[in-house]
Order: sequence, then structure tokens, then C-alpha cells
Amino acid sequence: MIAPSIFYLVAAFSIVSVLTAMTAAIAVIRRRLRNRRQTNPLAVKKCPNCAEQLAISALMCDECNYNFLSQSMGSRSKLLPPPEAWQTAS
Ligand SMILES: [Zn+2]
Repeated sequence: MIAPSIFYLVAAFSIVSVLTAMTAAIAVIRRRLRNRRQTNPLAVKKCPNCAEQLAISALMCDECNYNFLSQSMGSRSKLLPPPEAWQTAS
């Protein structure tokens, strides 16, 4: 009578440990996928003023309000700079 109960105990323990390991592995994979999405180097750009990592589509820096369109500070100037400024800047 002892041998079958031990067998069931070992079988139940094996199933529980396999399920636990699978759950942990899935959690790790999900975390890695999420991190890769956030830190994809192709999807971010660096603010030239404060070096903050921003989304490639960002027009304004969240940290220092650098304006990527006018290439100057502040949200007041929403227009592009005149062509002379572009030529001297590059
Ligand atoms: Zn900035």
C-alpha cells in the first residue's frame, strides 16, 4: 500500500514542478520581448540638447522641450527655420 501512494505523490510533484517551470519560463520570455520592444535602437533617437532617449516619431523632447522641427528650444516656435538657417546649421 505504501508504494502506490509514493508513486502518486511523486507524479503529482512532477506535474506541479513542470507547470511551475513553464509558467516561470513564459514570464521570462514575455519580459524579454517587452524589454526588446522598449529598447529597440532603431525606434529611438537621442535629444541633441539633453541626450534623452525619445521615440523616433517625437517632435518635442519630454525632458527639455527641445523642438526637432525648428531645431531650437521651446514649444513656441512651431515653424521651420528659414532656408539660410538650415544651410548654416549643416
Ligand atoms: Zn531633451
